[in-house]
Amino acid sequence: MSNFPRDAVRALPKAELHVHLEGTVDATTLLTLAERHGVKPPADDVAGIDQWYKFDDFPMFLERYFAVLGLLREPEDFAFVAERYMTTAHDQGVVHLEFYVSATGHILENQKKWAPIHDGIVEGCNRAAAATGMSWGLIPDISPHLGSEACIRAMDEVFAHDLSHVLAVGMGGPADNWWTQDFSPIYAKARSLGLAGVAHAGEHGGADEVRFALEQFGAERIQHGIGAMQDPAVVELLVNSGVACDVCPGSNLALKAVPDAASHPLPAMLDAGMTVTLGSDDPPMFQTNLLDEYERAWDWCELDLEGVSRLAQNSLDAALVV
Ligand SMILES: [Zn+2]
Repeated sequence: MSNFPRDAVRALPKAELHVHLEGTVDATTLLTLAERHGVKPPADDVAGIDQWYKFDDFPMFLERYFAVLGLLREPEDFAFVAERYMTTAHDQGVVHLEFYVSATGHILENQKKWAPIHDGIVEGCNRAAAATGMSWGLIPDISPHLGSEACIRAMDEVFAHDLSHVLAVGMGGPADNWWTQDFSPIYAKARSLGLAGVAHAGEHGGADEVRFALEQFGAERIQHGIGAMQDPAVVELLVNSGVACDVCPGSNLALKAVPDAASHPLPAMLDAGMTVTLGSDDPPMFQTNLLDEYERAWDWCELDLEGVSRLAQNSLDAALVV
């Protein structure tokens, strides 16, 4: 039995720096959205959706993630989901939240305009912020399987709209075409507009992805980064630069990025002196929440309260500010 001090950890001010807006759609919300849009849901009840949110592998997860994305259509859908998750996070002691939004997925796959999506999210975040006092920002995300040319066009639409709530551009999802296509112009343009760049790397892939994101994109944070541990030189790059890895242990287990908890490199990452923050990634899809992630770190790394406090402080220090 874990002796995890959940209430004490809840009370620690924390930032959540790795959570996807679309991945916060829980079973009840999914059923609500499906009904609202007259779409047949993948299952008829909460238990069925929760079962649907169990994945054999990463491709199966992505297929279902994009199915959920297709249920987010109107600005109020985005506002509803954003407000709901910020409130949930606040209940876990989150004082600052950075939402990844699959911008290229909405624009290219669902043929949606960015402006109303953005404005809906802003509306929901502002409502939650007014009620909770939280700060927040957005990280529009590139899905590389959609191709660099199309993503560059889609992100130009993002860059042309209000950027006052946008912290950075990010990249997530299938990463096996990083090497054949050039997404760096998107990062260069973001930088020219005063935005940061972050990227998923070293989740299912290895240390080369992390190096690539650091060197080619100038990534200021890495999402996951667990694959970095395969190469001491990349670990050294991360330690020396202080670039944080936003690690999501529950996601890594659910998507089999590691075979089991004992194989997860989180303890080794902390021992190596890397800056680590904890995130929940797509919490209802992985049957997790941010406090559960702190509990995993507590158990796996045999942390004490000072150890978890350091992780919470890391998240505040690594946060981007508008
Ligand atoms: Zn992620």
